[in-house]
Amino acid sequence: MDIGVLRRDGRTDPFFDGTAAGRLVIKRCEACDRWYAPDAVGCPDCGEEDLTWADASGEATLVTWTVTHGRPAEDGTVPPPAYLALVELAEGPWMYARLDGVTDPREGLPLRASFEHPDEGESYVLFRPAG
Ligand SMILES: [Zn+2]
Repeated sequence: MDIGVLRRDGRTDPFFDGTAAGRLVIKRCEACDRWYAPDAVGCPDCGEEDLTWADASGEATLVTWTVTHGRPAEDGTVPPPAYLALVELAEGPWMYARLDGVTDPREGLPLRASFEHPDEGESYVLFRPAG
């Protein structure tokens, strides 16, 4: 399923190196002590273009989400709905990610980053209910 999340393109290598190692790595402006989403290209506060990468806590809250209902298979089985969410990381930035294990999504739901390591393709982050 293509949900339009980050792809490895050179600029985002540290992010995917992080997810492969089970770490959520996002952008940070050292000058402003502010955090940014992994696809941020610069700091809007001070104009710094060379943001550093740093480990985030992996804690987040749910901001909004969309539900994708898959097509029933030929045998009639219906895949579980897939959630694509916008989450607010504890550090402040917002990012898109899949949800997992969420049956009753609501705004502000506490989440924690979890990492999937598919046989093919990049490891990726998804968020599960915290606690
Ligand atoms: Zn800055």
